[in-house]
Amino acid sequence: MSAQLIDGKAASAQVLAEVAADVALLKAEGIEPALAVVLVGDDPASHVYVRNKVLRAGEVGILSLEHRLPADTTAAAVLEVITALNADPAVHGILVQLPLPSHIDENLVLQAIDPRKDVDGFHSENVGGLSQGRAVLTPCTPAGCMRLLRDTLGDLRGKHAVVIGRSNIVGKPMAALLLAADCTVTVLHSRSNKPQKLSGQADIVIAAVGRPRMIGADWIKPGAVVIDVGINRIEEDGRNRLVGDVDFDAVLPIAAAITPVPGGVGPMTIALLMQNTVTAARQQQSATSALAAAEESACPSVC
Ligand code: NDP
Repeated sequence: MSAQLIDGKAASAQVLAEVAADVALLKAEGIEPALAVVLVGDDPASHVYVRNKVLRAGEVGILSLEHRLPADTTAAAVLEVITALNADPAVHGILVQLPLPSHIDENLVLQAIDPRKDVDGFHSENVGGLSQGRAVLTPCTPAGCMRLLRDTLGDLRGKHAVVIGRSNIVGKPMAALLLAADCTVTVLHSRSNKPQKLSGQADIVIAAVGRPRMIGADWIKPGAVVIDVGINRIEEDGRNRLVGDVDFDAVLPIAAAITPVPGGVGPMTIALLMQNTVTAARQQQSATSALAAAEESACPSVC
């Protein structure tokens, strides 16, 4: 038996097509969704990520506004940029590419973003909303995993899901989204006892550890659905390769379905970022319309 391959490229193309249709609707109403991307420093990987995000935005009709700042930019100067973007009604989403240079407090910068424009879903207000089950802008990678799970399994109610990893950007929001979907959720981390045994009971396994091929066949129940978030660069057979946290070849004959690396979760992250930008634009438009209506009823234009 061989697991079904969960095709993240095809799923992300579907999400992007939906986003493009939403963008067209917004434009017909006179709203041009715009995403501001703030990049500080020279980290080569960050430059590649930003280039891909800008390209994807262009493809679906979202305007991207790039703010590239030198590595020695002060925290105060970054905050000034964020404050200006918060105040600009033509900007609907703000993304600060991480990591920031070490002299800048990342949390300070992320908390300065207007939560309504926080398309990464990292602001405490959005994190709190997620944990209370009233999420609007949710972190893109876990949201992408949920889309893949729903496409594969349909209803997730009652499934036992094990999330391996408890980071703020993947593991914790992933667990909150699974809980909101009525899964029974177990979160494993580096201090968990007998993690293989717990993982081996799960209907769904989400691996977000950052350790190449750590999750072997002994972690997976036959027939489980496996989502591999890990992206690890390794040297193998004289080649530079990208591998996940799951030992793909070992798990393939056991699982019912599995995401490959690359081509699984990776493409979903950018697609969900575009979806969040459209959600933010729509929400800001509704808030502006509601305010205008309230002002009109308080003081009709004839008064
Ligand atoms: P972090 O390093 O922030 O978190 C890793 C988590 O794994 C921690 O909670 C850690 O536990 C846990 N862990 C480490 N070792 C073990 C172990 N032996 N057993 C169980 N748990 C363990 O990583 P991220 O969450 O940021 O990323 C995880 C992976 O996902 C990385 O490979 C990253 O590149 C990838 N990634 C992929 C994205 C995509 O778009 N596809 C987006 C974001 C990340 P503890 O808390 O106890 O230290």
